[in-house]
Amino acid sequence: MSNFAFLSYHTCPAAELGRETAGGMNVYINQVARELGSNGHSVDVFTRSHSSDVPKIEEIGPCSRVIHIDSGLHDAPKSELYDYVDQFTEGVKRFQNTTKTEYDLIYSHYWLSGISGIGLAEDWDVPHITMFHTTARMKMSARIGEREPEHRGIVEGDIMEAVDAIVVATAHERREVSHLYGISQSKVQVITPGVDVGLFRPADRSKARKALGFGEENIILSVGRIEPLKGIDIILGAMALLDRIRDTRLVVVGGDLQHDPALKQLQATAQELGLADIVAFVGAVPQVELPLYYNAADIFVMPSYFESFGLVALEAMACGLPVIATRVGGPREFVKAGETGYLIDWHCPEPFAQRLDMVLANPSLHARMAEAATQQASQMTWANTASDILGLYSSLVSNGRHGSG
Ligand code: UDP
Repeated sequence: MSNFAFLSYHTCPAAELGRETAGGMNVYINQVARELGSNGHSVDVFTRSHSSDVPKIEEIGPCSRVIHIDSGLHDAPKSELYDYVDQFTEGVKRFQNTTKTEYDLIYSHYWLSGISGIGLAEDWDVPHITMFHTTARMKMSARIGEREPEHRGIVEGDIMEAVDAIVVATAHERREVSHLYGISQSKVQVITPGVDVGLFRPADRSKARKALGFGEENIILSVGRIEPLKGIDIILGAMALLDRIRDTRLVVVGGDLQHDPALKQLQATAQELGLADIVAFVGAVPQVELPLYYNAADIFVMPSYFESFGLVALEAMACGLPVIATRVGGPREFVKAGETGYLIDWHCPEPFAQRLDMVLANPSLHARMAEAATQQASQMTWANTASDILGLYSSLVSNGRHGSG
C-alpha cells in the first residue's frame, strides 16, 4: 500500500465549487484521493492555507486528508501566487520532516504545484507525475484575447521535462501538449476522469422542477465557472435564434452573482438580446444540489472554446441529458454525435440553435439520446481513474523509479 502526496497549491480541494478558482480540478483531486484512500492507500493533499478558519488538517475520506500549509497571504490573488511557491514547498517539506511520513509518489496539479513538485521530488527522491488541467499555450490557442504571463508557458515546459509522466484527460490533449511544448507523446499518459454515478443519476423530472420552482417550459442548462473561455455568450446568441423560443428557457448555473464582472456582462448581453425573461442566472450551486438542476433540464449545452475535460457534460449525461457541445475536451471523445448529443465545430450561435431546435422538436430522438447518455456515463467511474493512476505508478516503479510500492 502506498502513500501519495498530491499537490494542489493554489486551490483547496475542499473549497466551494463553481466560482472563479474552484471547479473541475478540485473535484478531480477530491475524488481520486478518496478512491485511493478507500482502496487502502493513503493520500495527503497539500494546499496553501487560504483562511484562518479552516483546520490545518481536514479529513476528506478514508485515509485521505487535506493539509493546509502556511505560505504567504491567505487572500493573495491568483496572479501573485507564483511568488509564494517556494514558501509552500518549504512548508510541505517541514510537514514531512515533522511527521516523518514517507511518500512514494508526488502527483502535482496545475503548473504552480508542478514547480513545487520538482523541488519535493528531488528532496524525497520519489517519482513525480503531474496534471496541468489547463496550460497557457492551450488556452491562448483556443480563443483570441486569452492572455497568460509569458513565464507560465516556459515554466510549464520545464515541468514537462522534469516530471516522470504527464497525465492528461483526453487523447486530443495528449497531442496538443506534445505539439505545443515539444514533448514526446510517450511521456504523456491519457487517464480519463470519471463521474460519481451515485450522486449524478436520473431522477423524477417533475419533482426536480417543482423543487426548483421551474414551470413546464423546455429547459436548456449550462453549468460551470463563468469565464470567457466557457463561451456562454454563444449560447445566449443561440437562444435569440431559437424557433421554439416562446416555450424555452436557459438556466445558467455558476459564478458569483454579487461580484463577478463577467457574469454581470452576460446579464447585460441577455438584456440587450431581449432575453431577460428567458435566461436565468442562478450563480454557483453546491455540488450536492446539482443533480436537481440536471434532472429538471431537457438539454445540456457546453459552448466552450476550451475544456481540458469538462466534468459537467459527463455529470449531465449521467443524469440522462443529451449534450450539445463544441468539439472540445472530454465531449469531443465521449459525446457520440447523433447518439448522445451533438458536437459543434464552430464557436457561433447558429449551429447551436439549429441542434437545440432539432432535439426539442423530436421527443423520440431526445428519449433515445437520454438513455444512451446515461448508459455511456455509467461506464466512466472515478474508480477506473484511480486504478489507472495506480497502474501508472506501478509502471514507473518497475521502470526503475524509487518508491516502496
Ligand atoms: N460545480 C458545482 N457547482 C457549480 C458549478 C460547478 O459544484 O455551481 C462543479 C461541477 O459539478 C463539476 C465542476 O464543478 O464537477 C466543474 O468541472 P468542469 O470540469 O466542468 O469545469 P472546470 O472547472 O474544470 O473548468
